[in-house]
Amino acid sequence: MNKLDELKKIIESQNDFAVVSHTSPDGDSMGSILSLYNLLLDLNKNVDVFVEGQAPNKFSYLNGFSNIKNINQSKIRYDCLFVLDCGDEDRLGDCKELIDKADIIINIDHHITNTAFGNINIIDSKASSVGEMLFELYKNLGYNISPKIAECLYTSIASDTGGFKFSNTSSKTMRIIADLIDIGINFTSIYYRIMDLKTLNGIKLISKVTSTLKTYLEGKVATIKLTKQMLEECEATEDEAGELVNIARDIENVEVGILIKEVDLDTYKISFRSKDYFDVKDIALKYGGGGHIKAAGCTIKNKTIDEIENELVSEIKKAWVKYNEWSN
Ligand code: 5GP
Ligand code: MN
Repeated sequence: MNKLDELKKIIESQNDFAVVSHTSPDGDSMGSILSLYNLLLDLNKNVDVFVEGQAPNKFSYLNGFSNIKNINQSKIRYDCLFVLDCGDEDRLGDCKELIDKADIIINIDHHITNTAFGNINIIDSKASSVGEMLFELYKNLGYNISPKIAECLYTSIASDTGGFKFSNTSSKTMRIIADLIDIGINFTSIYYRIMDLKTLNGIKLISKVTSTLKTYLEGKVATIKLTKQMLEECEATEDEAGELVNIARDIENVEVGILIKEVDLDTYKISFRSKDYFDVKDIALKYGGGGHIKAAGCTIKNKTIDEIENELVSEIKKAWVKYNEWSN
């Protein structure tokens, strides 16, 4: 039986589903999990959708947002767990325990670093987003894509393509977007909310984060930092400020932008972005993280923020040899 038939059989024969994505969910995670939540409800299935901690309010317009659960509200057992847009089990954070609670794990992802931890693994590193993969999957399985599902998928794809401008945007991506628009969604409003809208406190946070900017390696690497104190002072959450790491990447001549974010005592989450050619995933992998060539991340513990910054810059300098720069 091919994967598609196997998947269809599972969806049709099972009743209790759980859907989850990685910690600190982004637009692709939120759109993907809520699209599947809505689809399974349309198929009259029991379904719980999970996020670790608080789901980003930015996506509150998506149908099903208010039904998102935390792990402490989960059932004892599920027939099937869908893990979406998540490269490995550890990235589920608290929600990792769902893996042990479900009989069948279905892993659908587009990260090249995915560890294929599911019973069924559908991985396409060429897809712009999991939203793009799900659109095709729903179509191929013969399921109806309602406007509320289409809004979720549009959110996923627009988010992970940076508003259809990253190089992961293909003609296929745009054909899917055309189909989603034809289903009848308010795409201008969604695009504005996910790409441009910021709160006043978010702007104050951008100002603080930008003031930490440093450049290295002849201006090809830029770092910025976000501390818990900044969040407290601005009374803002990170998602109110948009994609902070882009501030570093988008500077002229910068190839690699890095955001070092304090998440706990001596624990920092790193976001890497490259502009044209540098493979940031290789750097993230060295620290147990992962991602894509131009967008990757990892968590580093038990080092100071300055030690991390210096170490990352020197790792990047070493890696740059393969691009024939600073090879001396
Ligand atoms: P972000 O910087 O937005 O958190 O993540 C950028 C990309 O790298 C996303 O595709 C994300 O899923 C991936 N990523 C971020 N952090 C980690 C991590 O710790 N492990 C893995 N495997 N992937 C990560
Ligand atoms: Mn994604």
